[in-house]
Amino acid sequence: LSDLVERLSTLLGPRLRTDEAARAAHCRDRWVLGELADLEGRAAPLPLAVAEPESAEEVASVLRLCREARTPVVTYGGGSGVCGGVRTASGEVVLATRRLAGLVELGADDLVARFRAGTNGLAAEKRVQEAGLTIGHWPQSIDLASVGGLIATRSAGQYSTAYGNAEDVLLALEAVLPDGRILRTRETPRAAAGPDLRQLFLGSEGIFGVITEVTFSLRPLPEAMRGQAFHFGAFGAGLDAIRAVLREGWRPPVVRLYDVTEGERAFTAWCPKGRAFLLLVHEGPAALVETQLRAVAARCREAGGVAADAAAADHWLEHRNQVPSLRGFLEKGIVVDTIEVAATWSRVLPLYERLLVSLREVPGILAASAHSSHSYRSGTNLYVTFAVRPAERSAMAAAYDECWRRVMEATLAAGGGIAHHHGIGRVRRPWLAAELGPAGLATLRALKRALDPEHLLNPGVLLPDGAEA
Ligand SMILES: Cc1cc2nc3c(=O)[nH]c(=O)nc-3n(C[C@H](O)[C@H](O)[C@H](O)COP(=O)(O)OP(=O)(O)OC[C@H]3O[C@@H](n4cnc5c(N)ncnc54)[C@H](O)[C@@H]3O)c2cc1C
Repeated sequence: LSDLVERLSTLLGPRLRTDEAARAAHCRDRWVLGELADLEGRAAPLPLAVAEPESAEEVASVLRLCREARTPVVTYGGGSGVCGGVRTASGEVVLATRRLAGLVELGADDLVARFRAGTNGLAAEKRVQEAGLTIGHWPQSIDLASVGGLIATRSAGQYSTAYGNAEDVLLALEAVLPDGRILRTRETPRAAAGPDLRQLFLGSEGIFGVITEVTFSLRPLPEAMRGQAFHFGAFGAGLDAIRAVLREGWRPPVVRLYDVTEGERAFTAWCPKGRAFLLLVHEGPAALVETQLRAVAARCREAGGVAADAAAADHWLEHRNQVPSLRGFLEKGIVVDTIEVAATWSRVLPLYERLLVSLREVPGILAASAHSSHSYRSGTNLYVTFAVRPAERSAMAAAYDECWRRVMEATLAAGGGIAHHHGIGRVRRPWLAAELGPAGLATLRALKRALDPEHLLNPGVLLPDGAEA
């Protein structure tokens, strides 16, 4: 192993970091169980070293050297993942994409921008805004995540209802395969040239290769922007309103429906007690925004909605990326986490009811609620938040697992999808077989075997146990 460190060090010089601080800073992402393990003195083992390549060719060399030494490689973007996609074991090498940063090419006429994969998400957005353009992809973690990580986890942005998610803003990518070959997809608006290889890397969570460049399809900054809000007697009535709006063809970028618990908690000044709260942001040409505001108001009224002060949207826009520290809760013996699932319109309300009933039966549960934040013609997501304080502090991890198990099982039983946008990581692996089915999982495993026969790229992530065999 020290031979590998020497060879990597010859390749990268000071960009191979072996100091404890660098290794400790890259040993895990923001998964709650990682944070809890730290608190309980069970921190992830430190990796052997952190490699910081500056080009796709250097990434290829790192992968080749690690492969020769049979050493696993964990790719680290911004470290903002919340599913345990990064958690090192001793002897592994972390490949940090931090130095693969910056804009490579901006084509204002074509509405395309190519970034190196380690570019921070907000830095990328700001760079294209200088040209009057936007990527339109606004995950809450935009200032924490790398653009490569956003693709590798199939992320969703807050403006998704009009602009789509990671897969919709991605025009092309470059990735280094486990054996060091460099794969580039073409920058064309569409192709019917066999299966779309971008999809192999969207959501691949570091197991099929290292994404080194990301080309986004852009749009001009909107001419107009307006907020809008309504409250409803029940969550289901709000869902009906959204379904009607989308069915008719309207596409407000931000459509967020909070259940009664969350409406009261997050919009106290605007949401009357006992009501579900719908918040929208409209963007686009001024004429479209005006027309859409009227159409949405009509559909909401028909579903029993009452107009609320649109200042709630300004409040949301101002505070939308603030998240409370999970550590603070953990120190008080409380585990808080969020779980995002999705379902078609006819299944989503039964799923919402089923999973909240199930969560509220967990011993020590303090809160369970949900909102819908990404809607589509055929359905929507549920973003569930739970807080649990077991009687014994030593049972925090077990209580957490129980909450997850209940939400995953309720989702599968209701015919929903187990992962809307945070990915699989380590936390959802036990349910991936049920999500994909035996043939689906076998296909994924076959791809892994073909591309990475020694299972050296991010072992322990995405594929359920036994995949390495
Ligand atoms: C406060 C907060 C808010 C969040 N909000 C959202 C949200 O609104 N929407 C959303 O979708 N997610 C959200 N997330 C989850 C997370 O930020 C996203 O999943 C993000 O895409 C992770 O990007 P990253 O660069 O930080 O990846 P990392 O955490 O570094 O890595 C995530 C996974 O991708 C792999 N990976 C990273 N970079 C590459 C690469 N270049 N090539 C191949 N594999 C790679 C890693 O090995 C790992 O498996 C949030 C997280 C936090 C902490």
